[in-house]
Amino acid sequence: MGNGSKFHLVTLGCPKNEVDSEKLAGSLLSDGMEATDDLASADLIVVNTCAFIEEAREESIETILSLDELRNEDSEIVVTGCLAERYGSELQDVLPEVNRVAGFGVSVSLTKKANVPEFDLLNLPRPASIRPWAYLKVAEGCDRACGFCSIPSFRGPQRSRDINSILEEVESLQVKEVVLVAQDLAAYGRDQGVGEKSIIPLIEEITQRVDWVRLLYLYPSELNQQLIDVMCSLTVPYFDLSLQHVSSPLMRRMKRWGDAERFRDLISEIRRNSPNAVFRSNFIVGYPGETEEDQDQLIDFIKEMQLDWCGFFSFSDEQGTYASGLEGKIDRSLIIERLKELSCLQDEITSSKRDALIGERISVLVDSHGVGRTYREAPEIDGVVSVPDSCQVGEFTDLIVKGSLGPDLEADLT
Ligand code: SF4
Repeated sequence: MGNGSKFHLVTLGCPKNEVDSEKLAGSLLSDGMEATDDLASADLIVVNTCAFIEEAREESIETILSLDELRNEDSEIVVTGCLAERYGSELQDVLPEVNRVAGFGVSVSLTKKANVPEFDLLNLPRPASIRPWAYLKVAEGCDRACGFCSIPSFRGPQRSRDINSILEEVESLQVKEVVLVAQDLAAYGRDQGVGEKSIIPLIEEITQRVDWVRLLYLYPSELNQQLIDVMCSLTVPYFDLSLQHVSSPLMRRMKRWGDAERFRDLISEIRRNSPNAVFRSNFIVGYPGETEEDQDQLIDFIKEMQLDWCGFFSFSDEQGTYASGLEGKIDRSLIIERLKELSCLQDEITSSKRDALIGERISVLVDSHGVGRTYREAPEIDGVVSVPDSCQVGEFTDLIVKGSLGPDLEADLT
């Protein structure tokens, strides 16, 4: 199957999945297929799923079921991504709507080239981006063993890409901003002899090719002075620190590095280097054994550190993880209460940080008609900037911040 047949691709989950989807689309297009938004005319429906937490799995399954209702009866539904990798053919047993399950390394194509062992999403070519920015995945898998996380069990150990293949991809994307992603980005290159801290030469090389380089998912212990210096010298001093919590006993139960004091020192050091640095972090709420005191410590930390952006996620009990065997599970209602408390607090902090920008001159990358971002906002994750309609999509424009609304800004030419 190839010429004339059509595919419809649905992507769920995180930015890392989006990169995979673009590559899947690229490979289907090179097979001679056409992309379509019209489900009824699609011969092949590919669902790139997420299985990170319970909620993501439910969303993946609901999506498959609703696609099944709308598709034509001759079409084929192929499920790929994390859910496919994690549950394999078991998925087909419980979801007869699915025609094929394609884990990592298995082609989704209709051409029956399936099971080509060297099918490697990391190194597949990718079409030029239709947006002025693009995610770029530099490694797959993770060598850590955080207590709550099942990713290493189904994504495997870290495999870093060769720097030359990454640079070729940067050039082919033709974008103004590259957003580097990996499960443990700052550990890029530790495997396969690419070298310890080879993220630094990688950033330096990419900086010569695009205006903005943004890094997502940094494990805090990986940020040594050299990496901080390089990141502070970027036009995008944006630090997405994956902290997860701050209470020392809870961090040990999570099998992660750090605590409030270490994180405070790290953030202060970065701010000393770059007063304009912007911070994002994620925290897990309701990890087994979490006490009121742990929650209070996190609240104090959030109040004190005034990070620009934070995401709070409820603990999800993942089968086979270290945390799933721990005692002291927290009631759902208590988790929701704690989440609300943290989110309300952070919303106020984010709003006041955004208010403080009113009157500032900012450089905005215009993503689409009337909407852009500064270095302070990661695409699809943080707030946006409304810009005048006259601003050209895909270009940088200098504007003045005129107002703010929650996480978003409004900017004008004068
Ligand atoms: S660093 Fe921890 S949370 Fe992140 S993917 Fe690896 S094991 Fe999971």
